[in-house]
Amino acid sequence: METVDIIVRKKNGQKLTHDEIRYMVDGYTDGTIPDYQMSSFLMAVCLRGLDEEETVDLTMIMKESGDVADLSAISGMKIDKHSTGGVGDKTTLILSPIAAACGVPVAKMSGRGLGFTGGTIDKLESIPGFSTTVEEKEFYRLVNDNGIAVIGQTAHIAPADKKIYALRDVTGTVDNISLITSSIMSKKLASGADGILLDVKCGKGAFMNNEEDAMLLAESMVRIGRSDGKIMRAIISDMDQPLGRAVGNSLEVREAIDVLKGDMSEDIAHISIELAGHMINMAGIASTPQEGVEMAKRAVEDGSALDKFKTFISGQGGDEKVVEDQDLMPVSSCEHQITADREGFVTSVDAMLIGEASSLTGAGRRKKEDAIDHGAGIYLEHKTGDRVKKGDVLCRLYSSDEALLGPAASTATRAYEIGDSYVEPPRLIKSIVE
Ligand code: URA
Repeated sequence: METVDIIVRKKNGQKLTHDEIRYMVDGYTDGTIPDYQMSSFLMAVCLRGLDEEETVDLTMIMKESGDVADLSAISGMKIDKHSTGGVGDKTTLILSPIAAACGVPVAKMSGRGLGFTGGTIDKLESIPGFSTTVEEKEFYRLVNDNGIAVIGQTAHIAPADKKIYALRDVTGTVDNISLITSSIMSKKLASGADGILLDVKCGKGAFMNNEEDAMLLAESMVRIGRSDGKIMRAIISDMDQPLGRAVGNSLEVREAIDVLKGDMSEDIAHISIELAGHMINMAGIASTPQEGVEMAKRAVEDGSALDKFKTFISGQGGDEKVVEDQDLMPVSSCEHQITADREGFVTSVDAMLIGEASSLTGAGRRKKEDAIDHGAGIYLEHKTGDRVKKGDVLCRLYSSDEALLGPAASTATRAYEIGDSYVEPPRLIKSIVE
């Protein structure tokens, strides 16, 4: 088999065999196929597409490129939740303790942030002492004893995807539905849960800018998960504007704690409760998603979700006192406010620009080896639909490095649009794919 022949076949729009796809994936992973040939292959895939069978083949080959976690040592139905990536998306921090308090074992492997989207592991590491590197046996013990553990995804899960995704990121080959499906699902299927709830983001701050593409991606991932025997469901949700008000690691943990303490006023609370309701239903604990939602709400109201959050933090070495005293978590000392230059209504807050601005404050990383300023980020005082007067603070930017605030502020300023008439905030949950 010749690498160049496979590239040319895909360039000409021909269907590839399982062996040809395996040849490309294995060859690139073990270093025998160089970056330039894999880049060319990925571009051919983006331009000519993969059909259903090729997408399944690619997913399974990448899944089998590393370890497949065996969670059978954990009792109960394990339901994982995965978001395709968003700005201000701290749902994992909120719904995990809620679902665990309702009896769903949460055994979650999460990632770090890259580019303008945040990662759960970086957020958790802003809690003093919290460790996301836990030995396998200890991970199982934590879930069996506490009902919840969240750790960093190991390098042994889908290593082929890790290498291919890094190449896609720098060759303009990320935004293809088959490639995104196989990338996400290879990791999720290797993570060993019985069921997967997908939160497919749609809008300016998401890979999928419109609902139609988000639906195609959701359907593709649900089909593949089901063909591998998993319980699957997907929610399409808004990512035109950031979720909640906090963007940045410790700022987001603070906001998550507020929700767990009962603050239900923001979109982030509603989507977290909704997703938790689906998880509880998929685990067979509630007979309908609505019943799951009611259970999730009760777990917040009666304090059991907050108690579970404390147990979760202390179980992984973190200081649970952050729940009572949020000042134990860092907030960077330099602050810059962005104010409204006119009176009117906020008509949009561009999620991608806010994500980029947050990253510029030091809250995110450009390259995967970059360090993170855990106390940096943005707090949105106003979101779409709010009436503002000239001079009102629209958002506050935080950084440990004053010099970073200028470029971050000019990006955040561009994120806000103010108009004369009221605009409804975007619909949070757009559809459900089962
Ligand atoms: N997240 C992933 O893990 N892979 C993609 O291709 C896109 C988003």
